[in-house]
Amino acid sequence: MISIPEELNPNQGIPGWLELDDLSLHGDMVARIPKGAYIKGIIGGEKPFFPVSEILGTAISKPEGVNSNCGWVELETLTFHRDIEAVAPLAPYVRGEMDKDHNFYPDKPYTIVRSNDFIGNGEEKFMTTQAIEALVNTVIKKYPIDSTQITDPRQKFTLLAGSKLEIQQYDRVDHNHWKLLLSSPVNGSVIWFAYSPHVNIIRPNINRSTVITYQILNDDNGKLKATAKLACNFWNRFVIPQSNIVIRLGTFYSPGSVIARAYKPYQQGNTVYGKIEFNTKYLGTFTNYGIAGTIIHEIGHTLGFGWDQWMNLFYQNTGAFKPETIKKIPELQYMFVETDYGPGTAYSHWDEERFDQELMTGFKDTYEYVLPVTIKVMALLGHVIAEELIQKTNLETLIREIEDVLFTMTETVQEINFEYYKDTEISEEIYTALT
Ligand SMILES: [Zn+2]
Repeated sequence: MISIPEELNPNQGIPGWLELDDLSLHGDMVARIPKGAYIKGIIGGEKPFFPVSEILGTAISKPEGVNSNCGWVELETLTFHRDIEAVAPLAPYVRGEMDKDHNFYPDKPYTIVRSNDFIGNGEEKFMTTQAIEALVNTVIKKYPIDSTQITDPRQKFTLLAGSKLEIQQYDRVDHNHWKLLLSSPVNGSVIWFAYSPHVNIIRPNINRSTVITYQILNDDNGKLKATAKLACNFWNRFVIPQSNIVIRLGTFYSPGSVIARAYKPYQQGNTVYGKIEFNTKYLGTFTNYGIAGTIIHEIGHTLGFGWDQWMNLFYQNTGAFKPETIKKIPELQYMFVETDYGPGTAYSHWDEERFDQELMTGFKDTYEYVLPVTIKVMALLGHVIAEELIQKTNLETLIREIEDVLFTMTETVQEINFEYYKDTEISEEIYTALT
């Protein structure tokens, strides 16, 4: 095994353990025996706690009649999240229940989940292939610490200079490390860490054969043109659509409180067409990001959110996803589809009560965010995910990130028939809460 110095301070933190019943931390020098179920680890390094063992000891079971919330404890931050929050757990974590007195009862079989189960069953392609390439001989490790501190030979391996390792996803963590999700497990695990100065991330040269583009039917001082590009960029960044998407934009005037109205998408050949019209009464009062957000939402529908394949993914009476759908995208167990508010809103959005300000809820909000699962679910609607969204992110932040990107798809765009029109019914009207 070749060891590479990694400029880390291995002396950060002290060895100790985490007691799961009350999430309390105890240093090894304390003269007491761990109580209940516990996990050995490093206390007070970069993270409040860094687990190095499995769950040890004996869990205290929940007394009869005690009410509790189901959820999970994220071990590195020692925070408990309830299932209802509908955020993806951040590994490593332990599933269990917490009562109102903050007692935590881990679920059987008492295991630490060390990888986020974001890999599907292999049938769908959720990610295009990416890789890391070692610039020098480097050690890939189970933990983001100096490899000399890891004694178990199963918890590290050498990647020789110039060799590549296929990854599904990567994320920057402390101490100049990448957290890697490998395409295939090594020693039974897909989560590993690499010292970032020693490796290059090779992003895929995505072979795009389809594109999401727009057509302006009539505009209001160039507002729609400026914002349509932002909206198309958003989706082109994350998704390679099964067919080309043309979103047509126009205006209308109404003295009422309708901001915009969208028409049912339709397909001809290799192109799906969608149409949105904006009320000129409001157009001038919205920021470009606000208008782009509305277009992004409607492109979401044009990509299939609310139509055809989507309708088979969940139960219409509860809005909960079917087990076979959850098997493909585990986060969907925390998601619910809107079942209220009638045609136009029901069955084609995330549940408003639970996910109020998410992009794909049925009501427009001033502040909106995007959940990773909103991107991920596109894989079940026939599209290829070009990039995963790593975490819940402010929509405006995401729009700003791709503001200046040019998706040059001249040849593909030339093949699109921009002259094909069909009248379809209004599928959705977006109202303002302002009066
Ligand atoms: Zn909608």
